[in-house]
Amino acid sequence: MTATANHHSTGTPHATTGAPGAKSWAPPTDGKAGGAGTAGDAPAVVPAGAVRSAAPAAKIRPGMLATEGRPLVRPPAAAHLSDAQVAEIGRELDALRDAVLAKRGAADAAYIRRMIRLQRVLEIGGRAALLGSRNKVAWVAGTTMLSFAKILENMEIGHNVLHGQWDWMRDPDIHSSTWEWDFVTPSRSWQHTHNDLHHRWTNVVGKDNDIGYNLLRMDPAQPWKPLNLGNPLYNAILAPFFEWGIAIYDLELEDFKEGRKSREAMKRDLKALGRKAVKQFTKDYAATPAAAMLTGSGRQALLGTLTANAVRNIWAHAVIFCGHFPEGTDTFSEDMVEGETRGDWYVRQMIGSANISGSNFMHLMTGNLSHQVEHHLFPDLPSNRYAEVAPKVKDLCRRYGLPYNEGPLLKQVGSTWGKIFRLALPGGGKPARS
Ligand SMILES: [Zn+2]
Repeated sequence: MTATANHHSTGTPHATTGAPGAKSWAPPTDGKAGGAGTAGDAPAVVPAGAVRSAAPAAKIRPGMLATEGRPLVRPPAAAHLSDAQVAEIGRELDALRDAVLAKRGAADAAYIRRMIRLQRVLEIGGRAALLGSRNKVAWVAGTTMLSFAKILENMEIGHNVLHGQWDWMRDPDIHSSTWEWDFVTPSRSWQHTHNDLHHRWTNVVGKDNDIGYNLLRMDPAQPWKPLNLGNPLYNAILAPFFEWGIAIYDLELEDFKEGRKSREAMKRDLKALGRKAVKQFTKDYAATPAAAMLTGSGRQALLGTLTANAVRNIWAHAVIFCGHFPEGTDTFSEDMVEGETRGDWYVRQMIGSANISGSNFMHLMTGNLSHQVEHHLFPDLPSNRYAEVAPKVKDLCRRYGLPYNEGPLLKQVGSTWGKIFRLALPGGGKPARS
């Protein structure tokens, strides 16, 4: 098992971008296929051209969890657990999920609609204020509102809608197969690398490319190269341009280079990215500044939209890096997923993720990714429900002697940066726990 082995080698077919990446991979409930969603969650009315293919999601996410037994190797943090205990953890977490599903309804629908309305008010208000941004107060107000709008759209709305968390509403406008987010990478491309690959293979070195995004060395098991000396520098550059980093990452250039991704698939993905980039540029760097020229505020408005995108990128980068990189979150070898059961899958999600503690406002601004542990257990539950599930998950970890990683934002960000500096050097100091 080498760190360079690829996720496609074990039977996950290369789902080409453009196929429906909708729906999160979640452990199968019927013992057969992955993908929590069913055709019953399809939007009530499908807008023309919105859903790119009718191929069922399950086809590209074969269920690969064993119904009993244990993985070849259980991760060190869970090595003290018996098979029966792990199975019981699986049952407890299933029950937790079922309890939320039984309650899910009108109040949840009202919540996401309220968030979308708030986001639109902020975005329209922000752009309107930027039209007169020669005035300093208008510039600050416009840039602030637009920054919040972009953060809300990406984190609490976009990421979660694209996971299919709201598909049960069957609203074609708030659906994983139709939502196009305010981020340069096309929704469909991101759904493939994030929902299909990262959530399935969370923190498995060699299968989850989110460990460092092919750019940073984030685990001692990744072989050191002299280029890694630049780790901290690359990360500092990545932060303000995060959406571009993700867009390039989503192209899966490595797969193309090594022949696992076809030329046609590559062309299609480049075209989709090109179209999306033009759309984003037009909206932020042409239309808004052009309209602002009427009041002589064109240059200031351009600076405002550039700033709002940078603020959103730096924030998203910080929050997302806190999800799996702080010290104490485990990474896994391929032996640890070989023969993995549903309970083991749940355990891996818990010990491979880290939470951010803080106020309700903090949770909202992170799109509830501050509850990364709960998000990874239940990627398709509505985000507004993670807060009520969290104490129960934490209690479960305590009872079974499993680590539950949480801390304030600054501590988690600091820990992540510490690791980035440490792994810039050969070896990386501390050996991995796994
Ligand atoms: Zn996610």
